[in-house]
This record gives sequence, C-alpha cells and structure tokens, in this order.
Amino acid sequence: MSDPINSHGLRDNFWERVKLKNLNQKEWEALCDGCGRCCLNKLEDPDTGEVALTRVACRLLDDKTCQCGQYEIRKQIVPVCIVLTTETIADHAYWLPKTCAYRLLWEGKPLYDWHPLISGDAQTVHDAGISVQGWTIPEFEVDEDDWEDYIIEEED
Ligand code: SF4
Ligand code: SF4
Repeated sequence: MSDPINSHGLRDNFWERVKLKNLNQKEWEALCDGCGRCCLNKLEDPDTGEVALTRVACRLLDDKTCQCGQYEIRKQIVPVCIVLTTETIADHAYWLPKTCAYRLLWEGKPLYDWHPLISGDAQTVHDAGISVQGWTIPEFEVDEDDWEDYIIEEED
C-alpha cells in the first residue's frame, strides 16, 4: 500500500454524511482523488453546453504524478486555472470530469470504490485507470484547432 491516507481531522465517512458546504478544509481537500483529469483541456459545445475532455493537458500538469508542477504559483502562469471551493463548485460542477469526487457529491452520487478515501490507498486511482498517469499530451505540442482529435470517452 502506498501513500496511506492521513485521516487526522476527517470525520468518519464524512463524504456520505456531511453536506459539501459543511465540510472542513481538510475534508474538502481529502475529497480530491489526485486523478489530474481536471487539468485536461476541454471542448465545450456552445449550443448544447456539452463538455468533452481531451488528452491535451495544461502545460503545468506532470502526468507522472498527476499533480500540478507549479501549484503555488500556478495562477501567475495559468490565470484561468480555477480554485474549487464550496462557493465555486456550483459554477464548475458541469465541466468537471464525471468521476471527480466534487462533481459526484454535488450531484448526490456516491464515490467509487477506487477513491483513496474508500480504498485507503492513493494508488488505487491509478490502478483503476482513472488518473491521467502517462497518457496526456502537453498543450504546447498540439494546436488548439486540433484538440478535437484528442477527445476521450468518459465513463458514466
Ligand atoms: S478531477 Fe476532481 S478529483 Fe480529480 S484531481 Fe481534479 S479536483 Fe481532484
Ligand atoms: S495550472 Fe496546475 S492545477 Fe491548474 S489546470 Fe494547470 S496543471 Fe492543473
């Protein structure tokens, strides 16, 4: 087992019992499964509002760790990077990946078994093939007009 989850400050099964707006900061952050999918570039159909994820990733994404390579100063480099909070989730849930824990709970759905909070192991998000580990293309290598060639199917 790698990276055991530090449960200090987390209420038991908080993701099943506590409303998103009532989570403490530690619980809010623990909801993130570390998949990196929210750092994939998206295409939004202006007519239908449908959002498609692509394999083309933000220039700061490290797809070995699935983490932001410059998290502390990311807004200076990528000003459009959003900060997901209890106040902003309502505006952003629609474009978040379908497997994203914040979107799932916002939509009243349960977390998947591979979520580290349930498995107790941060590796399970990679083993389940949910994370972006090893399959993205940096945005500086693909012209924006060609992103549609890299659309991925999302699990429902
Ligand atoms: S998609 Fe959601 S769960 Fe995955 S890294 Fe982004 S915020 Fe975290
Ligand atoms: S700046 Fe960092 S956190 Fe924001 S989308 Fe890019 S890689 Fe993800």
